[in-house]
Parts: sequence; structure tokens; C-alpha cells
Amino acid sequence: MPLDQLGRPLTDLRISVTDRCSFRCVYCMPREIYDDHEYLARGEILHYGEMTLVARAAASLGVTKVRLTGGEPLLRKELHYLVAQLKEVDGISEIAMTTNAQLLAAQAVELAEAGLDRVTVSLDGLDDEVVRRVIDTDVPVSVVLDAIDIAEAAGLGPIKINAVIRRGWNEDQVIPLVEHFRGTGHTVRFIEFMDVGTTNSWNRAEVVPTAELVETISARWPLEVPKRSHASEVAETYAFADGAGSVGFISSVTAPFCGDCSRLRLSAEGQLFTCLFATEGTDVKAMIRDGATSDDVAEVISRVWTNRDDQYSQLRGAVPLDMPRVEMSYIGG
Ligand code: SAM
Ligand code: SF4
Ligand code: SF4
Repeated sequence: MPLDQLGRPLTDLRISVTDRCSFRCVYCMPREIYDDHEYLARGEILHYGEMTLVARAAASLGVTKVRLTGGEPLLRKELHYLVAQLKEVDGISEIAMTTNAQLLAAQAVELAEAGLDRVTVSLDGLDDEVVRRVIDTDVPVSVVLDAIDIAEAAGLGPIKINAVIRRGWNEDQVIPLVEHFRGTGHTVRFIEFMDVGTTNSWNRAEVVPTAELVETISARWPLEVPKRSHASEVAETYAFADGAGSVGFISSVTAPFCGDCSRLRLSAEGQLFTCLFATEGTDVKAMIRDGATSDDVAEVISRVWTNRDDQYSQLRGAVPLDMPRVEMSYIGG
């Protein structure tokens, strides 16, 4: 099993199944840029069979977990066919998906039946007006909350709820989100606003540090000392002292976790990336379309992984902010 230059194994594969999205979250796909953006054409995007071949190659090198993401994964037609194919890959023990949940209610049952194990749902608040401003799309919060219930009933729970908190936009949603999901078995995870890509006008003053959120939440509901359940788990999880579950924090800016980062990303276009902040990827689509087998692709992955030395978040500050970077909706969040 390959180790990278910093001794990190490869255990997780994130597949961006599309670069398109129905939302225009201001921190990810700002409308003024993405309404006119040139998206990948259908022929440029990997088919499900091609994605499965890469997953098989990755599994032969130690990958056990696959996450479907994007863009919005549920915009891909019949995504459950991909899930069913991935389920057949030896070595993959968990298939998860991150979604904005707009289309989840209609697809939850067939995804669960195909073998999807878990979903993470992105939701940045409970107040319709606040959320509408953040996602810049007219989708009521109730659509997402209903989808969470339906996904749970379909067996896709317990669900993680990802909330990006950005100063001046939605810090007032922290307490309502915690209050709503405490005691439900689902876990809210607060994500620091990240400087991913170059189009989201990131600025450090808008990052709400985890320490501040921990203080706010624990003043209302005391929290216990955090545990990280798994080395490759990016969130620090604090249990509520009263036993009503837990709350997570993903502190990519104030407490980077590159040392444990064991993820490889596959873009919808068939490029492998070894870091969310990568400037370039390694194409595998051309070789697959030329008849390469999963063993051939495994050789490429192994080489890419062995050469990997990424630790962008750890070095943040030493790297100029205007360096070229791939957008999150392309590379897969
Ligand atoms: N469309 C799906 C969704 O929103 O769940 C999947 C893709 S999205 C890129 C994956 C995750 O990245 C979401 O939870 C989103 O909130 C997060 N994200 C996007 N841009 C971000 C940023 N600038 N900082 C922190 N998290 C971000
Ligand atoms: Fe779409 Fe997800 Fe990005 Fe929002 S965070 S614009 S839902 S890809
Ligand atoms: Fe992994 Fe790159 Fe994020 Fe560090 S910055 S945790 S190496 S994806």
C-alpha cells in the first residue's frame, strides 16, 4: 500500500460526479461567475463505469471509503446506478454522499437500496431569509429538513449536517442549528469558511474560528472534551454533557489537519487531485478511454500518491493567496 512523502496512507476517494450545481452558494459558486461559466460537456465527464474503474484501482491500493460529491451529485441522472456499481468493488466498505438535499427526498430510497451507506447534508441555517442569501437560490429550508427526515427513514442516517459559518452572513444561525438537531441522532458540523478556489472573495476576517463557536455553544449547552473518532476524520467532535449527542467542527483554517489527510479526489473530468488546494491534476480519462485496465490506473494512482507532499492548510500564510487554484465545485468538496 503506497504511503506519500509524509507517510500518509491512501484510504479515502472523493468522486466529483458533476461540476454543475442547482445552488449558487456565495462561498462556492457565486452567481456572477457561475451563471455564465463554461461547464464540462457531457462527453468530457466520466461515465459511471469509468468512475468505478478508478474506484477499483484505488481500492486495490487501500481505499475503503468513497464519497460522492460535486457540484451537486444528485444532478447526475440515476446516481443509484453508480452506487450499485461501487458496492460491487472489493475492499470498499463505505459509500457516502455530500448533497445540498434539494433532490434528495425523491431519490433517498433508491440510493439506499443501491447500497449508499450515509449522506451528509449541507445546510447553513434554519432561517429562510438567511439561507436564501447564502445559497442565492430560492429553496426553502423546509425542503432540506424534509429530505433529512426521508433520508433517515430510508436508512441513510444518522446524518451529518454541514454548515459553513461566515462572519456577517450566518453566525446567528449557530444556536438555532444546534438546538434543532441536538437529541435527534444527527450531528451538525460547523465548517470554517475556506479559501478554496479563487472566486469566492475569501478573506480571513470572515472566518469564524472554531474556538469562538465552541465558546458560544458551550455557554448554552456544556460540551465535553473532544475526541477524533478516526485519524482520517476531519471533524473534532464534542459531546453534549447532557448526553444529547454531539456537535462537530472542521477547523481547516485555525487548526489544519493535513497530517492525517488520506484523501484522493477524482474530478468529474477524470483528473486525480491529491489536495483540495491543488493547482493541477493527473488525467486518467484518456488512458481509460484508450483501454487501460484498473491495474494500469492503479499504477498511476500509486505513483501520484507516492509523490504527494501536499499540506496546503498547514502552510497557509506562506503561500500567496492569488496563486492559481482549482475551484471546489470542480474538484469535489
Ligand atoms: N453540493 C454538495 C453540497 O453542497 O453538499 C456537495 C459539494 S459541496 C462543494 C461540499 C461541501 O463543501 C459543502 O458542505 C459546502 O458547504 C462545502 N464548501 C463549499 N465551499 C466552501 C468554502 N469556501 N469553505 C468551506 N466549505 C465549503
Ligand atoms: Fe452547490 Fe454545494 Fe457549492 Fe453550494 S456548496 S454551490 S450546493 S456545490
Ligand atoms: Fe488534505 Fe490538502 Fe486539505 Fe491539507 S489542505 S487537509 S493536504 S486536502
